[in-house]
Amino acid sequence: MLTREAVLRQIDADRVIPIQELVGVLYDHRLRMPLRFCHRGREYDVVELLGAFRESTSPPSMLYLVRVREGSVFALYLDLTEPVALGGQTFWRGQWVLHFQVEEEEPMLVDIRLKQIADFHGHLCPDLALGYRVSQYALERLTIALMSGTLLRVVAENTTSAIDAIQYITGCTLGNRRLLVRDWGKHVYTFLSGEAEGLRLSLRPGVLPENPEMAELERKIQAGQATLLETARYQTLLDQRITFILDTPAETLFAARYLPVGWPSDSVATGLACCEICGEPVLETHLLLQNSRRCCLACLSDTLPARALI
Ligand SMILES: [Zn+2]
Ligand SMILES: [Zn+2]
Repeated sequence: MLTREAVLRQIDADRVIPIQELVGVLYDHRLRMPLRFCHRGREYDVVELLGAFRESTSPPSMLYLVRVREGSVFALYLDLTEPVALGGQTFWRGQWVLHFQVEEEEPMLVDIRLKQIADFHGHLCPDLALGYRVSQYALERLTIALMSGTLLRVVAENTTSAIDAIQYITGCTLGNRRLLVRDWGKHVYTFLSGEAEGLRLSLRPGVLPENPEMAELERKIQAGQATLLETARYQTLLDQRITFILDTPAETLFAARYLPVGWPSDSVATGLACCEICGEPVLETHLLLQNSRRCCLACLSDTLPARALI
């Protein structure tokens, strides 16, 4: 079954079967989506709305991208053609058009390992691809050090999708405390295979330049103003960026250097005590003294003036 991203790719590549016929549609006004449509005597139940797009404002028209029970994806078009004045208000008389069906055969885009990571993460995106490349590069460079049996650890300096790829590829996770995340918004990753030195890999400046078309489409999508074709075009630009990240030599993407890195003590605290403000159990190591009461960080942050988010 095609993912939403794959559907958009197919549409941008024009891999669709045109239909362009009037259909009867059962529309749910509360859910604001079609529930069922009838085409050539056959009923199709909609099981998923992949997107609703405002294709034009005058005359108003909406395009719904829907998946039906059988798995196929269709584009349904609601054309509001005729304004009708009624009791001082304008209503629109409309008709539903079954626009096209999306072709189901998708060309294989990525290698199987990356496919597994994308399944784990939920989609394939440029940050995930970066996380994949940086982990692979680190593992290649640290092969010898890791053969001695030392466990790998990673310090990542962002909280993007890259983190999922790193956890998947290296086995260093937040849960096993071999991944430390500092949200500094930088594609910088330090891999430690011993105690003293870390391999610091940082995205080189200028290798992923801002694409004005992509930025403009992203703005439209976030504002809910993108048409289906614009959304599909955005997916293609994303794919081009992903392909670039996958095809560019790692040395071109990342600057590498070794540097001394410290790692916080590994002692795992398990003792729980109750916060004297909210009463909830907290790791004892995480209780702080505030006005001679032991309280948790969540309660403490409530008592502090709100910090501005940058
Ligand atoms: Zn992602
Ligand atoms: Zn508390």
